[in-house]
Amino acid sequence: MRGRDSPLRVRKSLNGPLVLPPRDHPSSQSSERLTLGLLPAFLRDYNRQPEQKASVRLLRESRAAGPPVLRVAIPGILVAYMKLAPVHVDNAALRVMSITFMGSSESRPPNGSSEYAVFQQATQHFARLLADRDDLPIGLLLDLLSTYDVLFSHGCVLCGTLLSRTRRLPPVGRLWNEDPEEGEVPWQPCHIECIR
Ligand SMILES: [Zn+2]
Repeated sequence: MRGRDSPLRVRKSLNGPLVLPPRDHPSSQSSERLTLGLLPAFLRDYNRQPEQKASVRLLRESRAAGPPVLRVAIPGILVAYMKLAPVHVDNAALRVMSITFMGSSESRPPNGSSEYAVFQQATQHFARLLADRDDLPIGLLLDLLSTYDVLFSHGCVLCGTLLSRTRRLPPVGRLWNEDPEEGEVPWQPCHIECIR
């Protein structure tokens, strides 16, 4: 199956395709230091963006309730829980610790795990991304998550098929394309198997 994103040119770094923008790319750097105090207004603006595919909600608004968690929902596709590092003062910069994926139909708590291989693979993929880059801006991660609206409909940009060869999973990974067509998001779906 060919999605709107294929066939496409994929820019390769020396080590292979880029799964994130380079560290010196503007989207890798927070335009402002996002804090717990600024988060509600940031999310309000984020959810108001036209054609936004994901809706984001802050589950724990006070420091006393525990580390903040963002619930990111793409209706009919997935729910992702973005766990933030514990905040000790309201003006501390927020940092994402982990992102757990589940299916929209699964009613599980934020610390649960999906029974579906596709969402387990997505959770593992983001654990690797966050282990590699622990300073990724929340806005960049939300933009990346919002591209999963095409998880079950768009093929892999590297092999051109919807389901991967061995595990038969849809394109759970994303490649960064720094030169997207006008109106296109800079992320292209790809299988985890095909990145490696
Ligand atoms: Zn592929």
